[in-house]
Amino acid sequence: MIIYSTLKLGETAREVLKEWEVSYDDSSDAEVILAWPTQVTQILDRAPKLKYIQTFSAGVDGLPFDKLPKGVRVFSNAGAYSLPVAEHAWALVLALAKMVNRRERNAQSYMLTRKTLLVIGCGGIGSKVAQIGKSAFSMWVLGVSRSFKSQDFDERHSINELPELLSRADVSVISLPLNKHTRSLFDYKMLSCVKQNSIMVNVGRAELVVEDDLKKVLLERPDFRFGTDVFWRKNGREEFESELWSYPNFMGTPHTAGADSNREVFEEAVLQAVKNVRTLLTTGSAQNEVKVEDYL
Ligand code: NDP
Repeated sequence: MIIYSTLKLGETAREVLKEWEVSYDDSSDAEVILAWPTQVTQILDRAPKLKYIQTFSAGVDGLPFDKLPKGVRVFSNAGAYSLPVAEHAWALVLALAKMVNRRERNAQSYMLTRKTLLVIGCGGIGSKVAQIGKSAFSMWVLGVSRSFKSQDFDERHSINELPELLSRADVSVISLPLNKHTRSLFDYKMLSCVKQNSIMVNVGRAELVVEDDLKKVLLERPDFRFGTDVFWRKNGREEFESELWSYPNFMGTPHTAGADSNREVFEEAVLQAVKNVRTLLTTGSAQNEVKVEDYL
């Protein structure tokens, strides 16, 4: 069994896979690919024996699902970035609540303690966001998800209930994957449901939110504050230049919550991906198998 990796594995990661050959330059005999989603398209034609794809990223929306040969199983790295991304989501929430790094003296500070938190996408990241909300700010935590990876939610709801839940939440954090069910979920109608003086932060993918609709709502509703770590792709690349930076009720970071946050986070995430491949090759199953039908 040959594994093809687009990333040169460090000593610890290589040790985990010591029973298998890892190639960095030839995918022709590879049955496993370890890669970032957008790299997969170029490799597919040169990997005729491919059985499994394991991504280094938690999100797999960049994979060419329509081109994957039938039977190829995909595993994401969901959960690998939970802590750093949850901390980052809270950095954005707090910055928006307290208007950090703004010179105006007339911006109101929003209180968080004992308020209502809505987490949308209650997997690895969402669960950590909920835990922090509960333990640090004694918040009442509403969760919207399909699966719930922890017990930290006071109420569990489905995505159909979002409009009503948004009208109750003082803070909402979006930590959903981008798939055919969630793309453009936050359009003008949905965003218009947010509660007076509330905060929304997106750490999932930008395309969950309709950019022009967001701009419209932020202009109409100065009381509504929005933060994001993820930006809309233009010509296939995330574009960090945006008119939104000039909005007084917007704050952002240029996708620095996860893999690009620091070396330690990156190396830990690579290690999780590699360990998952080991589990897969030794047991035939592993964590985070992607439901391909969510993307087609
Ligand atoms: P998880 O898979 O652990 O969590 C995602 C959760 O969303 C799961 O509980 C999942 O349920 C749920 N979900 C998926 N589709 C739907 C749907 N249609 N309706 C309701 N719930 C749904 O992933 P992570 O928490 O690790 O990551 C979440 C996303 O965050 C990633 O996909 C990625 O896009 C983004 N991310 C961003 C980073 C950054 O740097 N800003 C870094 C890492 C991730 P189910 O298990 O049933 O599918």
